[in-house]
Amino acid sequence: MTVFLPRDLDEALELRDRHPGATAVAGGTDLCVLWPERVAARRDEWLDLSGVAELRGHEWTDGALILGAGTTYWDVIRDRRAGEELPLLVEAARQVGAVQIQTRGTWGGNIVNASPAADGVPVLMAYDAVLELRSRSETVELPLADFYLGYKEMRLAPDQLLTRIHVPRRTYDLQWFEKVGSRSAQAITKVGVAVTRRDGEWRVVANSVAPTVRRCRSLESLLAEGLPVSGPADLMGALESDVTPIDDIRSTAEYRLEVLARLLYWRLRDVCPSIT
Ligand SMILES: Cc1cc2nc3c(=O)[nH]c(=O)nc-3n(C[C@H](O)[C@H](O)[C@H](O)COP(=O)(O)OP(=O)(O)OC[C@H]3O[C@@H](n4cnc5c(N)ncnc54)[C@H](O)[C@@H]3O)c2cc1C
Repeated sequence: MTVFLPRDLDEALELRDRHPGATAVAGGTDLCVLWPERVAARRDEWLDLSGVAELRGHEWTDGALILGAGTTYWDVIRDRRAGEELPLLVEAARQVGAVQIQTRGTWGGNIVNASPAADGVPVLMAYDAVLELRSRSETVELPLADFYLGYKEMRLAPDQLLTRIHVPRRTYDLQWFEKVGSRSAQAITKVGVAVTRRDGEWRVVANSVAPTVRRCRSLESLLAEGLPVSGPADLMGALESDVTPIDDIRSTAEYRLEVLARLLYWRLRDVCPSIT
């Protein structure tokens, strides 16, 4: 096996360009789960990003919180300002695995791993996060909501790395994240949802109910238009056009849909006059 150890971003991008088949490694927490299988498959080129300082840490600008792709959950949990301004980031981070994973796993790894159950992705999407994707020749920006094409498929070229995540700094009148799992730690999400509202504009993003983390655009319209809702069943039509849950070892499609509708109904009833 060959492990490339770039010392800075330019070197990482050059290696990415010359070795597009090499697997990028950030915290390694997703990759290590499949380690024996990958070693057996002799997939033998790895691009270790852990020494690339430009990918680590986060900064606040006037308009955004900018997360380096290699920023860990713990970095965000420890930033009091994140808890005050963008609390869903902290709430989601605290529910990823447990402390060991939170100190090692990165926001970028969560995005590119592209699990439908990823907990970092729904809150970033509810905040309209924008990804910065870089190759040697160019830097492109892409809304996270447009990044996924299907299960584990995304708009990331073999010569690109995810370098930064821009989270706009805005004032919201509603921010809410809920994760339903078997335990309060070390649990993969059965159903999850992140919701924001700002100037009457809604973002409703669900995880573990479709092949990708999914913005629920029909439901967002229903809420923005103020259509009357008098029980979870009234949300079902919109939800059924937004999500396609499946039965698997953790849950059933029926449970996932029912729980999502109930969570939304009971939480939003307090803040939406159209929901009674
Ligand atoms: C015990 C355990 C519990 C877990 N619990 C949760 C949980 O509750 N919720 C949850 O969402 N996840 C959970 N995870 C999954 C994982 O920890 C997270 O998804 C984490 O954010 C992955 O980040 P990483 O840096 O470790 O990624 P890595 O494993 O290093 O990489 C993941 C993927 O991203 C790619 N990648 C990483 N960085 C870049 C980059 N900059 N550019 C391009 N590609 C890149 C890699 O090539 C790989 O395909 C858990 C994992 C374990 C082992």
